[in-house]
Amino acid sequence: MLPFRILTILLVGLGVYFFLLQELLAAVTSIVLLGGVITYGVTSPRSSLLCPLQWKLQDSKSVALTFDDGPDPKVTPIVLDLLKEHDIKGTFFLIGKEANKNIELVKRIVNEGHTLGNHSFNHAFATNLFSYSKLRGDITCASDALKQTCGQSPLRFRPPMGLKNPRVAKVAKELGLIVTTWSLKYTKDSTLEGGDIILFHDGYYLFGNSRPQDDTPALLSRAIQQIKTQQLNTVALS
Ligand SMILES: [Zn+2]
Repeated sequence: MLPFRILTILLVGLGVYFFLLQELLAAVTSIVLLGGVITYGVTSPRSSLLCPLQWKLQDSKSVALTFDDGPDPKVTPIVLDLLKEHDIKGTFFLIGKEANKNIELVKRIVNEGHTLGNHSFNHAFATNLFSYSKLRGDITCASDALKQTCGQSPLRFRPPMGLKNPRVAKVAKELGLIVTTWSLKYTKDSTLEGGDIILFHDGYYLFGNSRPQDDTPALLSRAIQQIKTQQLNTVALS
């Protein structure tokens, strides 16, 4: 956070300085640069500029499989079957509202040894623009929903779309949640490496609607083969 504040002051200061010198091009360049830095901080899953976070494992011989936007009644059971078949534990970043609709599935996830993460209650498109109190309320509701459903309180928060800002950092810290993003969003062309936190979706949530992410089981099978070939361990995030 400190380097970002220093950078902001520096770039705004430069902008004002050039503006006063009537060097308008340089002044505009400074402000555009600041906009670029902020955009990077908000959108990059690897940037801790606006919000301290974990996006990679320390252990370079392990990977973590993570699943967002569930639980989904169609795809999540298939994912769980695959993980069980290969004796792999993963981490499910659940949407609170969906957890309330699929209570037995949440219980199954926990009973089979996986860990839960908080992926907000509503997965609202504008979560990153929420006020402090609205954001805190949404994240708290999601944690409460998971706790009431299965007795497990999440220790991590993954912001919807991975977008974050200093308010997210403040609320997560107050609620004792580690903000967690990813190093690899897995696709059919992906190669993985030790230390990766890998993002899959068992559900897909957009504009208030949840739908199954049907290609995830095939992607997961492919990733598991790569993990075995490379002799990597798998860990659930705790
Ligand atoms: Zn999501």
